[in-house]
Amino acid sequence: MTGASHAGVAVVGALGRMGECVREALSGHDRLELAGALEAPGHPGLGRELEAGVAVTDDAQRAFEKARVAIDFSLPDSTLANLRVAAKAGVAYVTGTTGFDDAQREEIAALAQQTPVLHAPNFSLAVNLLVRLTAEAARALGHGVAAEIVELHHAQKRDAPSGTALRLAEAIAEGRDQNLADHLVLERAGDVGPRPDGAIGVQTLRGGDNPGEHTVMFIGDGERIELTHRSQTRDHFARGAVQAAAWILGREARLYSIDEVQGS
Ligand code: NAD
Repeated sequence: MTGASHAGVAVVGALGRMGECVREALSGHDRLELAGALEAPGHPGLGRELEAGVAVTDDAQRAFEKARVAIDFSLPDSTLANLRVAAKAGVAYVTGTTGFDDAQREEIAALAQQTPVLHAPNFSLAVNLLVRLTAEAARALGHGVAAEIVELHHAQKRDAPSGTALRLAEAIAEGRDQNLADHLVLERAGDVGPRPDGAIGVQTLRGGDNPGEHTVMFIGDGERIELTHRSQTRDHFARGAVQAAAWILGREARLYSIDEVQGS
């Protein structure tokens, strides 16, 4: 239950891989505590009591009742539906869900006029450094050096390529002053011909239980630079999301970025 000195947090996707890590990261936190647990309708864990007074529910209003902020790792449709409820209730919203389409991104930005919202495709401090290093390398190397991204994730991951790979592609486009949509190459099969100048290629690998690896390659004639980040656990993502939830409390309603939280 929410104590006087702690702000309540509702975890959306509370029984998922990330939801479990977020609940772990909240336990013993000095400012935040679990106050609600939301899961998908029909989930076998509905009704399970996770802590005294916090049972898993599929009713967003109930899950958000005692919460000041929600931390969500679920699915794009779930994030949108639950963010609409949070916006009405004035509950701040931190989401790490990936795989949104353009219309969903626009709706998230619109709902951020009503309640503070932070969306990050990756909450790792090191990955966000990788994003900045990638933009810097792309700026320095220019269009003449081919940029390719390879990502590897566990076999259960639903969206491809990963939100982080797309963020890295965006960083390359930013560094080279390009429009990403004009240069992104997500597939190569058949008679694809020579590599177009300025292309930004992204390849997706899936298998096993890997929490996520990303390599950015800058491939020139006779030389190559590779920048790689490897996750061995999900704990650092969860800690980053919990840090963002503590940071966003009391802020004005708008869309925030992870760079603002991590002070970069
Ligand atoms: P998961 O499938 O293990 O967990 C998702 C949970 O959401 C499930 O328990 C599911 O039942 C629940 N859910 C589905 N619909 C729901 C609804 N309407 N309301 C409430 N809960 C609902 O997946 P995961 O590995 O935990 O990943 C979840 C998301 O987080 C993915 O989009 C993934 O790419 C992303 N992710 C982001 C980061 C990051 O740092 N931003 C890190 C890891 C994963």
